[in-house]
Amino acid sequence: MNIGLDDIDSVEGGCTTYVASRIVKALVNLGISFSDYPNLIRLNPNIPWKTRGNGAVALRIQFNGKNSHNIFSVVCSIIKKHALSDSNPGFVMLTGDVPDDIVNFSKSAMHTLVTKKKALTLIRKHDLDSFELGSGLGIIGALSSIGCTLEDDHTFEVISYRKRRMCGKRREVSRASILAMNEKMGHLTFNNIDPETERILITPRGPDPVLFGIRGGGAASVLRSKDMVSTREPFEYMLYRTNQGTGAHLEHLLNVGDLKPYSSGRIAGSISTKTVTMEGGHVMFKLKNQEGEVNCAAYQQTGSLKESCTALEIGDFVEIGGGIRRASSRFPRVLNLEFLRVLYLKPQYRWINPKCNCGRIMESAGHEKGYRCRECGAKNRTGRKIPKEMQRTISTGLYQPPPRAQRHLTKPVARIGKEKVWTKPKLKPGWYSFKNSELF
Ligand SMILES: [Zn+2]
Repeated sequence: MNIGLDDIDSVEGGCTTYVASRIVKALVNLGISFSDYPNLIRLNPNIPWKTRGNGAVALRIQFNGKNSHNIFSVVCSIIKKHALSDSNPGFVMLTGDVPDDIVNFSKSAMHTLVTKKKALTLIRKHDLDSFELGSGLGIIGALSSIGCTLEDDHTFEVISYRKRRMCGKRREVSRASILAMNEKMGHLTFNNIDPETERILITPRGPDPVLFGIRGGGAASVLRSKDMVSTREPFEYMLYRTNQGTGAHLEHLLNVGDLKPYSSGRIAGSISTKTVTMEGGHVMFKLKNQEGEVNCAAYQQTGSLKESCTALEIGDFVEIGGGIRRASSRFPRVLNLEFLRVLYLKPQYRWINPKCNCGRIMESAGHEKGYRCRECGAKNRTGRKIPKEMQRTISTGLYQPPPRAQRHLTKPVARIGKEKVWTKPKLKPGWYSFKNSELF
């Protein structure tokens, strides 16, 4: 059985994952076992009205078909207990294998704008149980999370939760222990710190109940990493299997001739204008291919990515990925850059005066009077400027924003070549711990 959840902003200040952990706890207490780790599914990040982070959760449980009504009402009551009155929770329950049209709906939700109407059509078609509060927009993410079964590339995140009385207080987590964990775990984890600013990225800053979250390629390694972080604060934790760090939203090929606002994906083409740095530091340029031309922007916050773009020249062939922003009164429709892959650098030339026989670069002798040498006095009346290839300040390869400016779905460079396929193994013992709970 599959339980999909989204948009559950909780009274504790947390989002869907926190309430999902309360549901897992309740299901464990009912003696229910799980066929997969909870799936944390990030959806298209380029939709402006998403809730923070746009993370939905799917729980996959082993279920013999009896008493599904009981499970449904347990989940509903936990959502009602925790949901903020102005949030828009959605909950969908599906028994059995996930149908293809729900898998496809989920694939669309990664890179485009999907409607609640479409979600409800599928829910009716397959006769699924569902529950919503507020506008119920969470139904979209709830159904999408069920459809994203993470059979291909995936990563893990262990999220630790604070006690309720600690929410809003300073997080007393040892910085030294996080740096040591990062050093020791190497590429088994990712985005623990931002290397440029040395900012710690595993601890959020808001009042939510998340104490810290550690991301990595394997279940065992992220669980081990959690034990290397020292804090005096008691916490609970849960391990998630997730599409974070897989670049799933940028796999789709965008058609430059038919760009839909809020869609995400990738485009290949040639740089067709000089890059311009705008007031505020954003870098703008255009990219062209046989389908048309698109305005591109690398925002100031993308740091090194934006810097790299300033070195592009007309004729360079690149692949770019990002999200399409709707046109505003001030700006046209634009692709907001999340990565740049330089495939070919068009040689750039500077025109210089001819060389003298003595080896020195000659200087102009005046308008239409040719060139003369200051060293030996030689003259050259018929000489012409000659092209000299310039050294480029950018090379072929992949450019990304620094970790602090990356999306949850951004595939870090360190993960390239480490993509995985899921073969359902036994769940590792200790994938959750609720022993410090005072909420239930
Ligand atoms: Zn000379």
